[in-house]
Order: sequence, then C-alpha cells, then structure tokens
Amino acid sequence: MDAETIAAIATPPGRGAVAIVRVSGPQAASIASRVFRARAPLADRAAAFGTVVDGAGTVLDRGLALFFRAPRSYTGEDVLELHVHGSPAVARDVLLSTLAAGARLAGPGEFTRRAFAAGKIDLSAAEAVADLIAAEASGAARAAAARLAGGLAHEVERLRAALDEVTAELAAALDFPDEVEEPARESTAARVRAVDAALAELASDWERGRLVREGLSVAIVGPPNAGKSSLLNALLESDRALVSERPGTTRDTIEETVALGDGAVARVVDTAGLRASDDALEAAGIARSEAALATASVALVVVDGSRALAPEARDILARTRSRPRVALFNKADLGDAGFRARDAADADALLGSALARDTVRAVREALRAHAVADRPDLARPHLGTARQADAVLAAREALAHALATLGEDAPIDLAASDLAAARAALGALTGREASESLLDAVFARFCVGK
Ligand code: GDP
Repeated sequence: MDAETIAAIATPPGRGAVAIVRVSGPQAASIASRVFRARAPLADRAAAFGTVVDGAGTVLDRGLALFFRAPRSYTGEDVLELHVHGSPAVARDVLLSTLAAGARLAGPGEFTRRAFAAGKIDLSAAEAVADLIAAEASGAARAAAARLAGGLAHEVERLRAALDEVTAELAAALDFPDEVEEPARESTAARVRAVDAALAELASDWERGRLVREGLSVAIVGPPNAGKSSLLNALLESDRALVSERPGTTRDTIEETVALGDGAVARVVDTAGLRASDDALEAAGIARSEAALATASVALVVVDGSRALAPEARDILARTRSRPRVALFNKADLGDAGFRARDAADADALLGSALARDTVRAVREALRAHAVADRPDLARPHLGTARQADAVLAAREALAHALATLGEDAPIDLAASDLAAARAALGALTGREASESLLDAVFARFCVGK
C-alpha cells in the first residue's frame, strides 16, 4: 500500500450542484479530522453533515463527508469524500485544504491504479472504468459497464490455468526425463487448441464489437446530384454538408456521426460523387470515395430514381449488390421511372425522397438493422481495448508456434517456451504480469480524480 495520501477533485470542472473532493491513503482519517467539523466523529461508510474548514479554521462550505475505512473502499485504502457545493472556487479551496492537511495532488487515474494495486479490480476492469467515463454513445457505455462487471479476467485466468497445466506436464518430462514420460503430443496439442479456440472467439467478438465501440462505418456513395448531401443533412437534422445544384461540388470527404437509436451510431463518410472524371481535383475526391467504400461496413447508395438511371448509377448499384448496403432511389417526388426500370438484383432498394421525413426514417431504420444485427453478446466475457486485443493476438501467435512444434516432432522444450510466452501475454491482459510502463500507459488515459 502507498504511504502517500492523494487528493483530487473528482467532479468535472465548472459549476454544478455538487463538487466532490476525494482523498485516499493512510492519512485520510487525520485529514478528515483537520478539514471537516461535525457533531460526531465520522463513522465508516456513513454520510455526515458538517463544515469544511481550512488550516486557519475558516469555514469554506457546509457539506457532507463520507468515510470508507480500508479495505472496504474503491482504492482499498482509507478514503474520504467531501461533497460540497459545486462551485469551482469552493472545490479548489477544499482541495487546497486537504493538501495543506497532508495530502498530495493525485495524478491521472491514480485512485484506480491504487484500486488495481490493492487487487480490487483487474487491469481490464480498470480500462473499462476509463471507457465508461469516455463513452459518448449509450451502446459503448453499456459495453464498458458489462466489462466492468467482470468476466473477462476470470475467463482469461481460466485459460492461463489450462496452459499452466500443460506447461507443468511438459516441464516435468523435461526435468525428469528418466522418471516422467513425455506427454502424448496429440493430447497436449488438443488442449492447446482448446485454449486457442477460446481466444479466437474473444478475438472475433472484438472485431464485431467494433460496431458498438466506434459506430457503424457507412460510406454515402452515388452519382453527383443524386441527393447524398441532402440525405446526410436530413439524417443529421442539420446543415453541415454543402448542398448545391451544380454536380461535383462535394469534393472532400466529410465524416459525421448519426444517432441511429437504441444506443447505436453510424459514422457516415460523405464522399465526392463517384463518377468518371478528367478533372484532377474531382478525381482525387473519387479516389477518396473508393477508399471510403472499401473500408466502410455498409454502403449507403443514393441514385436519382426519378428518371432513367445514369450509367454511373447503374455501375454503383451493381458494385454494391454483394455487400451490406442500404440503397435509396431518391427524388421519388419527381417520379419513379428509374426505380421502376431497376434491375431485379436491386429489389432491396428503397424508393423515397431525401427531403421527406418518412424516407429519412426508413433509411435510419435500415442502417440501424445493420448496426444491431451482428452485435456481440455483452453478457459474455469480451475484450474492451486494442491493448487487450493485441495481447490475445500475441498469445495466439505463441500458441500457433507451440502447435507447430508439437506437430513436427521438434523438441518439446521449444513448445514449453512458446506456452510460457502465451501465458505471459494473457497475464499482461489482466494485469497479473503487467510491467510498470504498461501500467503507466494504461492509467495515463484516465482523468485526474478517477
Ligand atoms: P449530391 O451531389 O449527391 O450530394 O446531391 P445534393 O444533396 O447536393 O442534391 C442535389 C440537388 O438535388 C439539390 O438541389 C437537392 O435539393 C436536390 N434533391 C435532393 N434530394 C431530393 C429529392 O428527394 N427530391 C427533390 N425534388 N430534390 C432533391
């Protein structure tokens, strides 16, 4: 446990109903007795009403104090929380008073780091805390909350234990070649494969979870003047993209975040019209459209359906048929000749107008269906950060080496060292084997006061 007592303002800067100054460490109780005056001494895990004072005894505010005695606190240390009026000046004065009474200012994430050091939470849960605070979409918040509830560390520790068993058998055979028979390679390999299969599932859920974390990536494509910007504006219910009567004016790509409902969001990349062109500037825009289309999960195709389809419209419809898409034959208010003459393969297309509310609703709904269709089951253990996904990847690479060795009649000590590497990668995931520099990097993402 740390000898130093830390303090920070735990609430966001600015005015609010309440500001909280949090103190954690061995001096929390003595600091409480110096900065907080109440009728009775502070009881463990009970709120007390009283006055907060500075070193000279000047009253700074009246408010609540909460005391959590170690180890039953967030950090596992003695923790004092002072709830005062939400004025930046009051919060700062209260913080200064705790510092004068013996605390030092906490660094980013230092409270959570202490919780980790005390074994209160594992590293993946600590990261979930940061994600929960950073979450902007409710879907991402729910995913982080599910991770905070745990499950991942338990699952990873189970896999690590399975590797330990295999490693122990190999080690026994290596250390006592005369007494212990080398384990059957095939059964050893089968157990390693079972661990790898569980890791593969975590990795594939991570890929699918990208949707929840980052939103559905959508590229709006279609010929110039089809109504792409109008549709995007309607989806955004604002006027950010440039709408013009002249073809080819949306030259740059723009990315906007569209709320789809039910916690899902789409990141929509608006591209220049996909169209063969000699104009260098427009050609650059078209290259960007192609790139956006290549990386997006869903294509939002807009064509003018009011009249016979232009060749470019036919082309983009044909090119997006075999991938997830939402296709709109736009400008239905002007006619539906293009829609009626559409290819049988475009039966999935919607007919409507970017200027009509029900069309915009139908497009939003169709995008949402893509966003939620493949959502991973948050009740299962799942990875939450790229760091964790990298650790799983590193573990799987090591396991692949181990399996190759086991399959090849190569000396089994090679397999043993690969299994140890896989085990270490999984240990870094939960923080069991995390280096100081790894911990520094993880906790640097936090705000001060958490
Ligand atoms: P983009 O080049 O594909 O982004 O097309 P814009 O969104 O800039 O639209 C081109 C023109 O078509 C603008 O004048 C829009 O107001 C108009 N427009 C877009 N959608 C519709 C629609 O559904 N009906 C009608 N009548 N005009 C539309």
